[in-house]
Amino acid sequence: MDRFIIDAMLGRLALWLRLAGVDTIYETDLEDDRIIKIAASENRTILTSDANLNQRAMKEGVQSMLVRGAVDYRIAKIFHEFNISPEVDPDEARCSKCNGELVKISTDEKSKIREFVHKQTYDHYDVFWYCPDCDAVYFQGGYWDNIQKYMEHISRLMEAMD
Ligand SMILES: [Zn+2]
Repeated sequence: MDRFIIDAMLGRLALWLRLAGVDTIYETDLEDDRIIKIAASENRTILTSDANLNQRAMKEGVQSMLVRGAVDYRIAKIFHEFNISPEVDPDEARCSKCNGELVKISTDEKSKIREFVHKQTYDHYDVFWYCPDCDAVYFQGGYWDNIQKYMEHISRLMEAMD
């Protein structure tokens, strides 16, 4: 699967790629030189809305793609272009905050994440996903429906691109 590094302007895209399980570096304070260097050394494709950065990367032989247009369209376009399935499976997702690989925490080990969530959340849910890199904890809360709905929306946009 393609791996990416994304410029600071494309935060929503980075978020949805991570949720879909795609290895995506996104930090808002990376300078262009650094982005190009990381892409080259880790064999990542740069996604950027900056024509200048895109051109420089390509000159240096680094895979790069200019991403333009409305947010939803951009996301659908990248998913379509790189054959990424518009689905969020929490067992496959990356940490949306830091790109870490999530670990599933089942009911019998749930005490491990007790200190990282509110008590109500802890009591209400049985299955969690934990990011060992930043201690974020995920669960299928109220926002889960919204995630599914948004991916369906992206899926429809992608169909129109075939
Ligand atoms: Zn994390």
